[in-house]
Amino acid sequence: MADLYVEGTLPPSLRGQRCRVCNAVTFPPNPYGCEQCGATGADLAEHALAGRGRLRAFATTFLPPRKDVPAPFTVASITLDDGPVVRALLTCPTDESLRIGGAVQAVLVEQQSSENGMQTQLRFEPKETP
Ligand SMILES: [Zn+2]
Repeated sequence: MADLYVEGTLPPSLRGQRCRVCNAVTFPPNPYGCEQCGATGADLAEHALAGRGRLRAFATTFLPPRKDVPAPFTVASITLDDGPVVRALLTCPTDESLRIGGAVQAVLVEQQSSENGMQTQLRFEPKETP
């Protein structure tokens, strides 16, 4: 996942892809070409996305899929402000204070991984919206 975001900015900037032919923006970058028009190679440019978006849907899981996964956790479908829709874990364990359309911001968290020790992972954090 390390190549999907730029470290050192807050919120972290996401490495997406923009098509020079049809202007479609994709995240994560699609190595096979533009998802809209099929352009490949030099027609695709790296495109930094602001790590901000809005909740489309979310669900809390209370049963851990493996012993080393802390539960509960909440997965969300997020429409990034730049257009692409991503699925990601949220920083809050449950969805009790969330609403559809609520603003979220990308954050990097250190997470214990059973195989590789501590790992930096991309999550989304709900933001207070006035
Ligand atoms: Zn295209």
